[in-house]
Amino acid sequence: MRGAVLHAPGDVRVEEREDPRILLPTDAVIRLSATCVCGSDLWPYRGIEKITGPSPMGHEYVGIVEEVGSDVRNVQPGQFVVGSFFASDNTCEICRAGYQSSCIHRELMGALGAQAEYLRVPLADGTLVATPDVPSDDLVPSVLAVSDVLGTGWFGAVAAEAGPGKTVAVVGDGAVGLLGVLAAKQLGADRIIAMSRHEPRQKLAIAYGATDIVSQRGDEGVARIKDLTNGLGAHSVIEAVGTQESMMQAIRSTRPGGHVGYVGVAHGVELPGEELFFSHVHLHGGPAPVRRFLPELIDLIWNRQIDPGMVYDLVLPLEQAAEGYKAMDERRAIKALLHP
Ligand SMILES: [Zn+2]
Repeated sequence: MRGAVLHAPGDVRVEEREDPRILLPTDAVIRLSATCVCGSDLWPYRGIEKITGPSPMGHEYVGIVEEVGSDVRNVQPGQFVVGSFFASDNTCEICRAGYQSSCIHRELMGALGAQAEYLRVPLADGTLVATPDVPSDDLVPSVLAVSDVLGTGWFGAVAAEAGPGKTVAVVGDGAVGLLGVLAAKQLGADRIIAMSRHEPRQKLAIAYGATDIVSQRGDEGVARIKDLTNGLGAHSVIEAVGTQESMMQAIRSTRPGGHVGYVGVAHGVELPGEELFFSHVHLHGGPAPVRRFLPELIDLIWNRQIDPGMVYDLVLPLEQAAEGYKAMDERRAIKALLHP
């Protein structure tokens, strides 16, 4: 089969990879209908995250089940399924508490390379959720978004305790930040402040429910959030970048007693203990337990109550994956969808 492989920073190639097959009785193999490039794929693409050799890429996937192992009960060949970027058993104590991305048996899907024609999904019963039917083509991008960016933005909003009566600020205008805006809106937030300097992204943030745009960042951005909130800061802040600057911007934009939901993969972030101590801010985040939210999010999409698929502003054949990476790296695209 064909699949994207990162050979060195900036060097993504679509090449022949071995066809995945059932290795364990709990596995499924799916034929991908769509996959995409993630903001987190840009860390190794930019050389910030080191790779040890040619690495299959991609961890976002939707598709049709081709084959299942002998122990798989919940999904069957022919069903259209979506899963998260962590495979999980969905039965251990950690999963049952809603933290499937820390499942004691978790497996990182990125290592299996979802930017490809086929994908082996471990722990298929716990990981995959079937949609009510095979979706029409126009729904596929939205269902794909559930796999990571929507599930992650949603967790950011839940972790930040977005809800009625709350002012929510969102740091980061990538797909996760934009879908954090959508999530905050769905969760009933009163006011949603999107922090973005890019006009097309500001427009999408507004389409998803942002009530205010702040184009400043760093200390100036914090000051602007304070201006908009009677000097107090937001109740809830979603951090969707993962840098030192964005994390501090999120913490400092939050009022005492407020909550930060941090879902940008942290790179080199170090928190000052004394400032944190006196901030009275709750911090919760990490790799989103997307599996927790899959049934609810599929339902919202199926009933056309939300349209997270709008974040894909570049659609390419899988063979042109390299252009998808380049366009996202240069911020010409929010998110690239790839058709195998
Ligand atoms: Zn588990």
